Amino acid sequence: MKKLILIIFVLIGCGTEEEKNQQPELPQKNYGKYEMFVDNFIAIAEQEGVVVGKQQIDNLRLIDTADQEQILNLGFNKYTLGVCLIQRYNSIHIEKRFSETAKATLLKFVIFHELGHCLLNAEHTHDKSSLMAEQLPDFVYFTNDEKVFDNAIRKFFQNYLQGKFTKNEDIFPIVINNGTLP
Ligand SMILES: [Zn+2]
Repeated sequence: MKKLILIIFVLIGCGTEEEKNQQPELPQKNYGKYEMFVDNFIAIAEQEGVVVGKQQIDNLRLIDTADQEQILNLGFNKYTLGVCLIQRYNSIHIEKRFSETAKATLLKFVIFHELGHCLLNAEHTHDKSSLMAEQLPDFVYFTNDEKVFDNAIRKFFQNYLQGKFTKNEDIFPIVINNGTLP
């Protein structure tokens, strides 16, 4: 029963632009151990015909690991696995325990979800099997097959090209990277 409850409530994360004023200066990018995921995201996007803007890449300054208390302090709940914050600079925060225990396919999936927010301004979709679903799709519980994850990721880029992900600039503004608050 406990497992079922977790399955229902686990959230991948979402984008927010709250608490703009609290973010310190982040003059240089720091992706740490997550750097290869960014390169991989941009490469797969290009293969599928999606160009990630230089401004969006420049504005993503930080990907780090956050413990649950930090996630809660950012305004998210304890089931959140990852967060994309749209602030002075964009940053992604991956929940620590998840980042240490998740299978590689699932970790990549969650980071790609956050990169969908932070690099492409993609919003959540009601399609529960999508990379941009708010909750983890069912298939992640039943397979570790890399192809299944890869297909979901490529389908996202293909759908993105078709304009299926609304770019709501009120929620995901394109921030001009001049180091000042809008
Ligand atoms: Zn999200």
